Amino acid sequence: MLAKRVDKIASSPTLAMGKKAKEMIANGIDVVNLSQGEPDFNTPENISNAAITAIKAHLTDSYTATNGLAELKNAVIASTKKDYNVSLSPDQVVITTGAKLALYTLMQVLVNPGDLVITPAPYWVSYSEQVKLADGIFKAINPSNTKFKLTLEDLNQLDTTPKVLILNTPNNPSGAVYSKKELEQIISWTKSQDVYLILDEIYGKLVYGDTIFHSGLTLSSLADSKVIIINGVSKAYAMTGWRIGWAIADVTIANAMTKLLGHLTSNPTVAAQYAAIEALTGPQDSVEIMRQEFEKRLNFLYQNLSIIDNISIPFKPVGSFYIFFKVDLKFMQRHGYNSTNDISMALLTEEKLAIPSGEGFGMPGYLRLSYAKSEDELVEATKRLQHFFL
Ligand code: PMP
Ligand code: GLU
Repeated sequence: MLAKRVDKIASSPTLAMGKKAKEMIANGIDVVNLSQGEPDFNTPENISNAAITAIKAHLTDSYTATNGLAELKNAVIASTKKDYNVSLSPDQVVITTGAKLALYTLMQVLVNPGDLVITPAPYWVSYSEQVKLADGIFKAINPSNTKFKLTLEDLNQLDTTPKVLILNTPNNPSGAVYSKKELEQIISWTKSQDVYLILDEIYGKLVYGDTIFHSGLTLSSLADSKVIIINGVSKAYAMTGWRIGWAIADVTIANAMTKLLGHLTSNPTVAAQYAAIEALTGPQDSVEIMRQEFEKRLNFLYQNLSIIDNISIPFKPVGSFYIFFKVDLKFMQRHGYNSTNDISMALLTEEKLAIPSGEGFGMPGYLRLSYAKSEDELVEATKRLQHFFL
């Protein structure tokens, strides 16, 4: 009999949908796969070449420090200085096998059995399950704000002060981005209440229009604080397969994470670490080219989805690369769908369109699509949605 912890969590719905879609494609079925959030671009060549060079020079043959190569930590520090004019020390940086592992390790480090962890809904699917794996109590708050952003008012109305608050800006799945003032208010609330604040900034380089991304790094010192920043190379550099992310925190938290990681991974894959050094320190033009392309796709999709009957987009996303849209309840009732899970399944089987439902994101009644896909796929997805929601 397997351990109970396996039963108490759900499989990752984004990965499950991605797997199903990929299997159907392998069987020759013409599926448009907008399920997983991963850029369709190739990893820029200078980045891949840095890994190849490291392999050929046998730099990849041995373990590195558990929390990453000194050169990579320095690259994170240098890019933080360049982007936000904030100085960090290497012992505040923990490199991990993807940001997902940074978050998992952090939950293990911060959460005792029964501790409350909150986040606004909709939220990224792994937060809830990672909290459960640490035996914590996960609670999603439904923000009063129309853009699904947590406000000071929402926090002031909580009956129990949580141990940890997770905030994701730019947000997956809603595409919302917190303003400087909104973030300042939340940071100051967590400080006054002695709450740990995990700021997941993995989409920080992907904002659109006149939106400005504000990092918690510019609003709070991390040393001697309970503010932790999560980031990685997956999204901005088209490097989801390389699995490099990191946490930046007070040294006590960073050391505790490293202690755990010593028993989990020993170190992140070395070739990927060399690739990440080049990503952070090499030319940045590819990031901007991809960002502009995502923005074009967002504008195209937003315009085309807005006119489809029976679905509605609560607001135009301004960051990340997702559109989170609502399905009209009457449409569901008319067609006998009990949930958006059913709709997501029907879209896959009837329209060959893979998009996960809002259930896993803590918001039933919605569906999420990723527009980090080619224009042709997005045009085709629009047609299939139009056909389904007629
Ligand atoms: N946070 C958010 C909000 C995400 O969407 C993802 C996507 N996978 C991650 C963290 C983890 O990223 P990765 O493990 O690929 O670095
Ligand atoms: N973060 C991406 C998504 O939300 C990748 C899949 C995952 O790790 O959940 O689709």
